[in-house]
Amino acid sequence: MRRLLVVTAHPDDEAGGFGGTLLLSHERGIETYVICLTPGQAASNRGGAKSDEELSEMRRKEFARSCEILKVTHGEVLNFRDGALDQANFLAVVGELTRRVREIQPQVMATFGPEGAITGHPDHSMAALFATAAFHWAGRQKRFPDQLKNGLSLHRTQKLYYTSPDFFMDDREPVSLPPWNARIAIGKRLDTKLAAFKSHTSQSPLFERVDKTFRRHGEQELFHLAAAFPPRQMKVEEDLFEGVTET
Ligand SMILES: [Zn+2]
Repeated sequence: MRRLLVVTAHPDDEAGGFGGTLLLSHERGIETYVICLTPGQAASNRGGAKSDEELSEMRRKEFARSCEILKVTHGEVLNFRDGALDQANFLAVVGELTRRVREIQPQVMATFGPEGAITGHPDHSMAALFATAAFHWAGRQKRFPDQLKNGLSLHRTQKLYYTSPDFFMDDREPVSLPPWNARIAIGKRLDTKLAAFKSHTSQSPLFERVDKTFRRHGEQELFHLAAAFPPRQMKVEEDLFEGVTET
């Protein structure tokens, strides 16, 4: 069985950054997993929520709906603090992610790049760093060895990708993105991806801008291959599972 694991920071990242690829992967019989590190309680758009807890609850439901639309096999929202991932305990977050990599055993992982993707959000940057460490450490004996005493085994994921769009948001500072080598044509799945984004109703003030940006750029999703096993020369790809062996 082929398995793809996507690591994000906020509910709605799964749709905006990875929605088309998640859908396409499902159509190709790949199991898809999304781990979102925070319930998004620091968002400026609060959907009428009276407290951080209420907003978290609302956004967890929106995330579940978005995952349903994107046909995600299993989506999970962890409970790290939105807007503060740069203050989270590095080993605590990477430990949680490493355990899930060892459980899910994906062949391919995808996340943001350390620049924080097109918004440059520091939580996205931190998600990149945590997910990158978990990608490498899930396969190392001396990293979180206690996990290995409880029935889990080492897991070496074969490829790690960073999302790497070829456009910026009009109202944000530009960022330096990793050069893309994988171009995933998502075609009309863009409509479903936007529908998934719009299931995050608490974020409705963003819809018009997101719709415009994605209609202009969105019939493809671009990725940068950041790490691979076994070693290889970088080449242009149209499929994140190219060269992957099923385990
Ligand atoms: Zn985000």
